[in-house]
Formats: sequence, structure tokens, C-alpha cells
Amino acid sequence: MFNLSKKIQLLPPYLFLEIDKAKRKARAEGRDIIDLGVGDPDQPTPTHIIEKLYQAAKDPATHRYALDQGMPVLRQAIADWYKNRFNVELNPETEILPLIGSKEGIAHLPLAFLNAGDYSLVPDPCYPPYKGGTILAGGKLYLMPLLESNVFLPDLKKIPINIRRKAKLIYINYPNNPTAATAEKDFYQKVVKFANKNKIIVVSDLAYSEIAYDGYRPSSFLEVEGAKEAGIEFHSLSKTYNMTGWRIGWASGNAKLISALAKVKSNIDSGIFSAVQLAGIAALGGREGHIRNMCNLYQERRDTLINGLSSLGWQVKSPRATFYVWVRVPKKLDTSTPFSVRDEPSRTADSIKFSKLLLEKANIVVTPGVGFGKYGEGYVRFALTVDKERIKEAVERLRKVL
Ligand SMILES: *Cc1c(COP(=O)(O)O)cnc(C)c1O
Repeated sequence: MFNLSKKIQLLPPYLFLEIDKAKRKARAEGRDIIDLGVGDPDQPTPTHIIEKLYQAAKDPATHRYALDQGMPVLRQAIADWYKNRFNVELNPETEILPLIGSKEGIAHLPLAFLNAGDYSLVPDPCYPPYKGGTILAGGKLYLMPLLESNVFLPDLKKIPINIRRKAKLIYINYPNNPTAATAEKDFYQKVVKFANKNKIIVVSDLAYSEIAYDGYRPSSFLEVEGAKEAGIEFHSLSKTYNMTGWRIGWASGNAKLISALAKVKSNIDSGIFSAVQLAGIAALGGREGHIRNMCNLYQERRDTLINGLSSLGWQVKSPRATFYVWVRVPKKLDTSTPFSVRDEPSRTADSIKFSKLLLEKANIVVTPGVGFGKYGEGYVRFALTVDKERIKEAVERLRKVL
């Protein structure tokens, strides 16, 4: 009687289902699970941000609809942050749009630009809303494989002419979830050139710009010449300030794109809780020490995991950014011999089977790569969102299994 829409039926299957179910079952059985699966910081939001929320929430002025396109003081704080961090000038009135978390904006943007049959160029593996947003807007997906042989960057030359003609959006995300790859300005320059030539809008997702190691400082797409004419960049307080539950992020860049996204949103939501906006200003306003301490913490965990895995003969490249480690599924699950590093992982290496094995045999949760798209098959993602001692424990458990 209730028929689902074609769009809903076209959404990619949720491949984490099996592993989620197995995880719940393991927890219910009282097993001691080490969860390296979730990309959600385990540390609390810094206290001064919470204090600001508390104080702002007591002011009745914050209790009403926040119908403007984000408070002017928040948009100014975002502009100042971009200027400070990337030396990028943004007009707070026309080039910045606060969002209820960046996922919301990422998923709504295609509604503003896709007509039936138009394409989004989407990296694969990827953060799932790039695909979901396109499909819900009636668009089609062209997958750009992120291959290890190309340091997990899309190969723009491989995109066929007939697809370029029908493409409206190209999604890029560096530092990248799930591969932890990074991109430099020369890549962004190529993307701008490609986008201008083919009249395609660039959508850059910069959620992990502040989570980087060994002195590395990720760039913004908007730093390169012509970027603001070519696209839009999404950013978020979620990962930088351990605020995933608060729901606050923003889009910045081309004013026409910003106003189109604002128009979509004005039909869907009624703004971000004003007290959260004020707390967001407190977050952006400083205490640099927080970011440094956070990165040191993840870096220690990263080194613990990488050293541990390499002591098992599991050769893994140490990521320069993000709190993820993206590793190949061992070719032979039942031996401890080092497996060979081939050019590309086998598509038959079963990341779901391997993740289930780790859960069953070692009580460790990792995310199967295929859940991020078919080119993620052959890999699993470890998230560095548990403390160092637990990571050590996870490595010891792996030693027994592998
Ligand atoms: C976590 C994450 C985000 C942030 O999402 P919010 O909705 O702002 O919490 C955006 N993009 C990627 C790739 C992420 O991993």
C-alpha cells in the first residue's frame, strides 16, 4: 500500500547494517568491544564553548526562530577565521551561510542545481551524503574512483566528455574521509580549471582541515585563484571542536551558490538555535591550544596504531591528517606472514567479512571500506577515537587473530 519513491529506492544500500547489528549483539552479550568504527570524537567539547552555550541559553532572545541566514556576528566570526587561517577574504553578508551541520548543506545543495538526468561527479569511496543528496534531488552519479595508485585523488582526465556535458557538481574532500589522503594547491588548481572549462560547480568539503600532524597544515580550496568563481566550500565545527552533536557548520564561497542554497534551506529549516550560534563564535574565537592538544592526542594514537600494525607485518602508511587510518584487508586472513603490496587491492578482498571476523574473534569494530562505495572494497577504516591504551589492547588482540 505504501510505495516508496523511486528516489528512495535508488539510494545506495546501507552496507554498515550487518556490522552494526553484530556490534549491538556483541554489546548485548556484554563483550568488551573496542570500537574503532565511528568517526565521532571521543573527547568533550572545550569548556569555554559549553559555558557560552549555557549563558546564551538563559537569554530569552535566543529562544525564538533564528530565521536570518545565520547571525551577522557568526558570519563575521567565520569570515575572520577564514582570513586568519587561510588568508581568504569572504564577504560575511553574501559569501557565508551557517548550516545545521555541514552534512545538511552538502545534502541540500543538489536540490538547487540538478535537474532530472544531470550528473554529480562523486569520489568513491566517499562520505555518503554526496551520493544521497544527489539521488534525492533526482540527479545521477558518476563515480570518480579514488585509487591508491593515484594517491586517492580523482583522475579528472578519465571523466568522459558526454558526462562532463551533463555534470553540474563535482565533490572533492581533502583531507579525505575515509582514505585520510590529502591534496595540495596544484590539485585544487586543476579542479578549478576543469570546472571552469566544463561549467561544473566545485563542492569542497573541508571538515578535517584542522586535524593534521607532523606540522602539516591543510589548504583550503578557496585559496587558489578563481576558486570563488568556481565553487563553494563546506566546513564544520564538528571535528575541530568536538561538537558533532551540536549541529553547526557553514558553506562559504561563490555568492550565487550561497544564495541558492539559502533559498532551498528557507523552505526546509528555520535556522540554528541562536545559543549554539553564539557558542560557535566562542569556538572560532580562539584557544588555539585546544587544536594543538587535540592533534597531539590523535597523533599519539595514530603512532600507536601504525607501530602496532607494522609490528604485525601489516604495512600501513601513516596519515598526515584526519583521525582515520585506511588499510588494506590482509590477503590471507589466517596467516601472520606479511602480505604483498600490490598496485591495487583485490576487489574480491571482502571488507565486510574481514570486519565481521575482527568483531567475532577480537571484539574490535572497524568500518568495512565497501560501505563508502565499491572502490573502497579491499580496505577497512580504523578511527582514532579511542584512547591509546585501548589501541594498544586492540593491537594485542589483532596479534592473536592474524
Ligand atoms: C564529519 C564529516 C563532516 C561534518 O559533518 P557535520 O554535519 O558538520 O557534523 C563533513 N564531511 C565529512 C567528510 C565528514 O567526515
